[in-house]
Amino acid sequence: MTNVNTAGTGLDLPDADEILAALRAGYRSIDEGYGFYPGFDGWLTSLGYQRRDDIPCTCPDRGYRGHLPECRFVR
Ligand SMILES: [Zn+2]
Repeated sequence: MTNVNTAGTGLDLPDADEILAALRAGYRSIDEGYGFYPGFDGWLTSLGYQRRDDIPCTCPDRGYRGHLPECRFVR
């Protein structure tokens, strides 16, 4: 997926369908009492993505209105 923030880096960001599925996993995780992020992060991790703290923000607006849950998840 092409993203202004990762163009040319060879990093792959989750696409819209993968993010939607991860959001659903996060809401399921809330229903099961674990909170949103264990489900959301776990779903993306299972697809091979990792949250990287050593790269710039990957939000389309660069975090201007706050960071998205999938910010910095790349593979
Ligand atoms: Zn961000």
